[in-house]
Amino acid sequence: MKYWGYFVAKLLAILAFGYGSGRLLFLYFPKQKTLWKMQPFMHDLPYTLVVMAHFLLVAGLIWLAVWDQRYRCRTCLRKLRMPVANGGWHHVILGPPRTDYICPFGHGTLRVQELSLDGTFHRDWQEHDEDIWKELYALENNTADKS
Ligand SMILES: [Zn+2]
Repeated sequence: MKYWGYFVAKLLAILAFGYGSGRLLFLYFPKQKTLWKMQPFMHDLPYTLVVMAHFLLVAGLIWLAVWDQRYRCRTCLRKLRMPVANGGWHHVILGPPRTDYICPFGHGTLRVQELSLDGTFHRDWQEHDEDIWKELYALENNTADKS
């Protein structure tokens, strides 16, 4: 819920920015004088170019929000770290290349397929049942006790 709430909040912020800046652009951009009243979009070249650039900016911000959201932990929303390459391009059928990302607090692992034979790139999020750092500390304590 927190994950999707954060995504919706980012999208709403981008849409608010896009709407506000679009309104400012419409109100304050100097328009050409015409004999009859026309909408400036598609009739005024500088205004049309600026509106198209504004659209591309907002679309790019939405793309950035989606891209950023894919590489966030589903539990704590932190950026996923420590990319590890697995598989290889010489094992396309049995071990296709993929990159694993992990939450720095051990909440889960994201497996991103680097090769897609059907055109869709699968991202597989696997939540860890237990905190992996506790498990590592337990191993470290066991080895310290034995020595
Ligand atoms: Zn996390």
